[in-house]
Amino acid sequence: MAEPMFERAAFIGIGLIGSSLARLMKRDGLARHVVAVARNEKTRATALELGVVDEATADIAHAVRGADLVMVCTPIGAYADVAAAFGPHLAKGCVVSDVGSVKQAVLRDLGPHLPDGVHLVPGHPVAGTEHSGPESGFAELFEGRWCILTPPPGTDPAAVEKIAELWRRAGSNVEMMDAHHHDKVLAITSHLPHLIAYTIVGTATDVETALRQEVIKFSAGGFRDFTRIAASDPVMWRDIFLNNREAVLEMLQRFSEDLTALQRSIRWGEGEKLEDLFSRTRAIRRSIIDAKQA
Ligand code: NAP
Repeated sequence: MAEPMFERAAFIGIGLIGSSLARLMKRDGLARHVVAVARNEKTRATALELGVVDEATADIAHAVRGADLVMVCTPIGAYADVAAAFGPHLAKGCVVSDVGSVKQAVLRDLGPHLPDGVHLVPGHPVAGTEHSGPESGFAELFEGRWCILTPPPGTDPAAVEKIAELWRRAGSNVEMMDAHHHDKVLAITSHLPHLIAYTIVGTATDVETALRQEVIKFSAGGFRDFTRIAASDPVMWRDIFLNNREAVLEMLQRFSEDLTALQRSIRWGEGEKLEDLFSRTRAIRRSIIDAKQA
């Protein structure tokens, strides 16, 4: 086994994403010691039982003391509080990174709490499932997926390279992006689709009882696929929408305009327009399959 990349890796949050990365780091010996922070005893016990980490604690200061990597893996809404708690205990040279689905908020919420000599390299593995908690994680989650890094200008290149190398070891392709651009891209590729799924499933659960039973029974007609997305963690998604407000509202505005145009085509029997749109969307699906992101 190769030399570890890190001496002490501290995971703040050890759910689906944190535990997947921690598993991989343990499996491949990428850190000499892996410690996790979680608020609930059950989360800590599960992470330990599964052998995902060497140590689990509720004491955030203890976890990060002497760490050369701190990986924040909580919902975005917790970032400012956890950073205020761990910031004063960081060692010089430590690299702080994260896996959050929104990136401008990371600079805002983590940045002010980091002492001089600590490097911030925000990241977002574009991989996941609708499941939560340490029991849902698996080391292969990131294989063949993208990981987007959004280091602010002036970040130490060695720190950026270290985090990039970590994700490459996880099997991901790494891309660098400006945080603002990231939030715009993800608003359309991830956040809007989740919002649409939450809306459709919500609408279907609001219909009268008799119809609701039929919705479940005949869900294979298309509804089922939206329910998978709409089963994603409520707290995580609440925080994504609250922290990527501008980009999501902009994409939602465009979406509403397109929906209105579609409504009009249906009303006026404009079959050609419908067929044209559905043919273009079918081509997009083919490109996703070709890019091995299906
Ligand atoms: P998860 O499975 O729900 O895990 C969240 C972890 O954070 C748990 O260990 C939880 O343990 C801890 N936690 C929650 N609230 C906390 C708080 N206020 N203070 C301290 N610890 C807290 O979530 P996840 O799916 O791994 O998502 C984690 C991050 O990854 C999110 O920021 C999300 O945007 C990002 N992400 C998710 C996906 C996905 O598909 N799920 C994909 C890419 C990126 P306790 O409750 O015991 O504290």
